[in-house]
Amino acid sequence: MPGKTQSFHLNATLIRSDATRHRPEGGLVFWLAALVALGVFCVDAFTPLDIAVAVFYVVVVLLVASSGSSMAVVGTTVAVGVLTLAGFLFSHGSDYTGSSIARCVVSLLAIGSTSILSLRNLAKTAQLHEQIDMLNLTHDAILVYDLGGKITFWNHGAETLYGWSAAQAVGQRIHDLTQTHAAAPLDEIYATLLSNGHWSGELQRVRRDGRAVSVMSRLAVWRDAKGEPRAILATNNDITLQKQMAEELAEQQKELRAAIDAIPGMVWSASNEGDVMFVNRRWQESGIDTKDRGADLWAGLVHPDDLSRMRGDWRASVTSGRPLDNLSRVRQRDGRYRWMHIAAEPQRDASGAVRRWYGVNTDIEARKRAEDALTRSEAFLVDAQRLSKTGSIGVAPENGEMIWSNEAWRIFGYDPASEVTPSLALILARTHPDDRAQVEAAHRGGDTPAPLIDLEYRLVMPDGALKYVHYVAHLGPPASTDLAYVGALMDVTDSRQTQEALARSMAELAHVTRMTTLGEMAASMAHEVTQPMAAVVTSGDAALRWLNRVEPDVEEAARSIGQMIKSARRANEIVRQIRAMAQKRPAAFTRIALDDVVDEAVELMAREFQRNGVRCDVQRSREKPLVHADNVQLQQVVINLLMNAVQAMAEREGAPRRVVVATQMLNEQEVQLSIEDSGPGIGEQDRERLFNPFFTTKANGMGMGLSICRSIVEAHGGSIGLDAAAAPGARFLITLPLESAQEEIVT
Ligand code: ADP
Repeated sequence: MPGKTQSFHLNATLIRSDATRHRPEGGLVFWLAALVALGVFCVDAFTPLDIAVAVFYVVVVLLVASSGSSMAVVGTTVAVGVLTLAGFLFSHGSDYTGSSIARCVVSLLAIGSTSILSLRNLAKTAQLHEQIDMLNLTHDAILVYDLGGKITFWNHGAETLYGWSAAQAVGQRIHDLTQTHAAAPLDEIYATLLSNGHWSGELQRVRRDGRAVSVMSRLAVWRDAKGEPRAILATNNDITLQKQMAEELAEQQKELRAAIDAIPGMVWSASNEGDVMFVNRRWQESGIDTKDRGADLWAGLVHPDDLSRMRGDWRASVTSGRPLDNLSRVRQRDGRYRWMHIAAEPQRDASGAVRRWYGVNTDIEARKRAEDALTRSEAFLVDAQRLSKTGSIGVAPENGEMIWSNEAWRIFGYDPASEVTPSLALILARTHPDDRAQVEAAHRGGDTPAPLIDLEYRLVMPDGALKYVHYVAHLGPPASTDLAYVGALMDVTDSRQTQEALARSMAELAHVTRMTTLGEMAASMAHEVTQPMAAVVTSGDAALRWLNRVEPDVEEAARSIGQMIKSARRANEIVRQIRAMAQKRPAAFTRIALDDVVDEAVELMAREFQRNGVRCDVQRSREKPLVHADNVQLQQVVINLLMNAVQAMAEREGAPRRVVVATQMLNEQEVQLSIEDSGPGIGEQDRERLFNPFFTTKANGMGMGLSICRSIVEAHGGSIGLDAAAAPGARFLITLPLESAQEEIVT
């Protein structure tokens, strides 16, 4: 482009003039011009020199032209023209020759042409300055440098960009001044520039203040008329901010990507048609690469059994524009499936049309398993509650509102589907009238709620059926519940009835064994009765004899009668005891002295001891402990143990036979009764099963004695056992609660 080429050329020329753009002082120039004009006029007018002195007026014109004023040039031209003519007239008067006229005309032509040239030059200079000013108007940095890198033009934009003024920059080497750094070597850039005529690219430079700048540089090479490269025109734009923003954007995108990749879920976006456009790294766990796209992605991913439902949900969302919410099994890299929650939200454009869907598949395998486990355990619990007839009851802390499990509803005989709300009132409505007070008291608690509620009560069903329930609840249940009490309500009707039946059979059995014992003791008993009866007869005879005397001795007769009454009472007492033992009657618990029970039993056994040559020592506790017991039952225990001792010792011929019955306080709550014999003792192998029903080593034994003893003692709140330390004989220990202690338990 010739125009462009020319403007470069002029620019390059003008830079220098730009650097010296300050014109010489106008006044001084004009004074100098006036002096030169005066000198030329004097020489021209007053010296006889036959040369065209007036030609030197061109100097005056040039001087004035250097002021840059076209008007001044025109004025000066007119003035020096007048002076030339005046000098001609003055020096030649009317006496002028052709040659002098010719010199004058030459001078005038020289002045005129100089003036015209100066005016043209001034006009072009003005035009160039305008162009330079225009170049300075642009914000782009525009600079020109020669092939050696020497700067010849540096506009305002360059000043602003690099911080160097034009005066400082012109003449400097561009790459030294700005510490140019480019991705490619500068030589390569120049080679490209010279071969292509232009180059554009990014450069790193350093400003005057030391700050680094990134510039987008566009270079063009200017060639002279011969086509020789002469200068390089560069336009530079500061892209530092742009680059920083681009880097920040890239960084943010990286961070965003990392964040999306770190989301514990399979993040995706899809078109409205269902084409997956983006997936995060989590998809790799399912064998999907982050570059994979398309609608088919789901087909290979979602479990075949769930796919059609998932697609149905997706279609419904696309049609309605509502968020997608689906649960499906999603395949993993190892081929196994995991439950995932597939959710997506639509993104809409300004018109409200769905543009894209953004979704995330969240792994809910653990939750699903927990839910399944919960459902299973709930099913187990319901089943277990039904089988064990145990319901659960939760009681809210403030208002006493209740939660009943299905089984609790069933036990109380209410319909869970009915409108009624579980409450104490509902429980009381079903409670046996005699038990209501204790149920209400246990539930209401009082000022300080009891840490444990444990009570058995009866329910009366609408059909009149009686139910026995055992309710156990504790305060401060697991933190996960917001309940005050959590309790278990057991329908113990069956076990209660069984217990009662068992108790009845035990009573029957106890009676049978008592009768058996009595049978075994029949001989001794008979003797016990016959002896006092014989004494009655003897005393009666004696009394008669005393009375039949000539002088009846009334005093002796009365003593004999007294003896008779005593013996009769004794016989009566024994018969009473035997009858009591033989009687079949329900247990009657009374407050009795343990030692009295022991004495009576030992008395009944007296003859048995005597028959077998056994010495029985009774060691009574000083405190005379009282127990709450059934006299006959406890006696049965003692007699049983004493009979066993007698029978065991009977086997040992010649060995001393001794039984020691002792009562002793164990502590403030318990008393111990021990029965020790000098028999053979109980072998290690038999100890374990000693109390088992039907365990006997005797030919005619039933093996029920000790078993019944244990049930009787346990029914009295006590325990029976064998003292392992005793040797060589056997020592049975019975522990019973003291009457006072038992009272505490009962109430
Ligand atoms: P039975 O007397 O009908 O055998 P028990 O239950 O009273 O039934 O006793 C069970 C067994 O315990 C006896 O057969 C006997 O072997 C053993 N036994 C009980 N008391 C004694 C004792 N004092 N010395 C040794 N063995 C005993």
